[in-house]
Amino acid sequence: MDKAKYSKYCLVPQCESSSIKTPGKIFISLPVGSSKNQKKRRMLWLRAMRRNTDDISENTRGFVCEDHFNFEEDMENYLKYKVLIQTENKLLNLEEAF
Ligand SMILES: [Zn+2]
Repeated sequence: MDKAKYSKYCLVPQCESSSIKTPGKIFISLPVGSSKNQKKRRMLWLRAMRRNTDDISENTRGFVCEDHFNFEEDMENYLKYKVLIQTENKLLNLEEAF
């Protein structure tokens, strides 16, 4: 498997985290999908990171690093990520967790 193909980087402006630079960080994938719910969630994420929704096309795979999540206030989800990540050795696409 070509590891470089699976490198992840954070979409948040000014954030320089990537799976190459900061391999210890957790990267959560941006919601993708064509259902109304998935689109709405994706829009909320983009808005939260102050990205223009037009900047990032609907099919773009994007990630946000752990720095922008408040895991302590979102413990239930955090535990889900942790479990999934440990299971899949950090290569899992986490969108199912949402
Ligand atoms: Zn980041």
